[in-house]
Amino acid sequence: MTITPAYDLECIDIAKSFGDFRAVKDVSFTIPSGSFFSILGPSGCGKTTLMRMIAGFETPSGGDIKIKGASVLGTPPNKRNVKMVFQHLALFPMMNVYENIAYGLRCKGVSNDEIKLKVQDVLERIALPDVGHREIHQLSGGQKQRIAIARCMVLDPDVLLLDEPLGALDLKLREAMKIELKLLQHQFNTTFIYITHDQSEALVMSDHVAIMNEGRFEQIGTPQELYHRPNTSFVASFVGDSNRWSGKVADSDGTGGKVRTEQGLDMAFSAAAGQTISTGSEVDIFVRPEFIRTIRENDPAAAISDGDNRMSGIVDSLLFNGANSRVLVRGWSGELIEADVILTGTDDLAPGEKVDLVWSPAQAMCFEKTGAA
Ligand code: ATP
Repeated sequence: MTITPAYDLECIDIAKSFGDFRAVKDVSFTIPSGSFFSILGPSGCGKTTLMRMIAGFETPSGGDIKIKGASVLGTPPNKRNVKMVFQHLALFPMMNVYENIAYGLRCKGVSNDEIKLKVQDVLERIALPDVGHREIHQLSGGQKQRIAIARCMVLDPDVLLLDEPLGALDLKLREAMKIELKLLQHQFNTTFIYITHDQSEALVMSDHVAIMNEGRFEQIGTPQELYHRPNTSFVASFVGDSNRWSGKVADSDGTGGKVRTEQGLDMAFSAAAGQTISTGSEVDIFVRPEFIRTIRENDPAAAISDGDNRMSGIVDSLLFNGANSRVLVRGWSGELIEADVILTGTDDLAPGEKVDLVWSPAQAMCFEKTGAA
């Protein structure tokens, strides 16, 4: 009986040092079959090094990598059933689309008849059935992306690695390609591992995202988990926008308490499930702009619950961006606080106006300082 592994990829304590420098530090994770997994982190955190070890271009200093349950350590890149799409795509400019896609099959000695069937099938799956005869320079940026993916997928890899493939595209095309890539991954039902430093790409496309920082994974979760229940200050600040205050816990009963911020503001917070924050701890507090309500100063009609955080300030500026418009409010101690608002053009807040900012303790995410964030 053959047992199909539940995971296409397993990394176990994988590490890489360059001399004394530890670029990847004992990272362990598994990727369920047929999922879209992103590795998101700032420049230099070790994403590409990790990807290159999975592809076989770099030898780990420690740990193991298993694909479909079998270790691939010692297996050269061309013998691993892993394909990689690079930012520059690496299409062959002297070959037309058909020959670009057929190339890998020809190298494997596949017959011309079979190549024809496979290339046509993959062109149909990427919704470009009629471009086989085109030269590469005759394709749009988005079409080139799809051909680069088709060229890999025609070889039926266990895992497709994508190293910031949208990085070179203009903003509009990048937005369109995010959705496109997600649809393509569904279409092929193959595990895609995508590395990026762009959180909006990772959140939109992925089933699961790993947040990488200084060679380690800080947290792995669904986009929703990472956004709403970050485990660390680094994740809270790297994923999504947040207002951030530092301070000291003035009192805490285990489920929540009050922080005195460096600006002298008392801020109530509720601890997340399983989180213990002790009195006296140095902490960071994060509040997302969409959870802060901006109300005209002392507005009697504003519904404010007992225990809500409330601070006053003066409108500094309004940033119109359709439904995602934002107001920047200068707090009394000088800090700028961002809150999401709906700007309609009538009766909007105006710079210089006094306002109250209100948010619930449950929306204040609190983390003890580790020194690494
Ligand atoms: P970016 O998003 O900028 O591509 P990254 O997260 O992919 O960054 P890596 O390219 O993996 O980061 O690099 C991680 C760290 O390892 C960096 O400090 C880099 O300078 C270092 N590094 C990478 N390759 C080598 C090498 N061959 N020799 C020495 N140091 C290296």
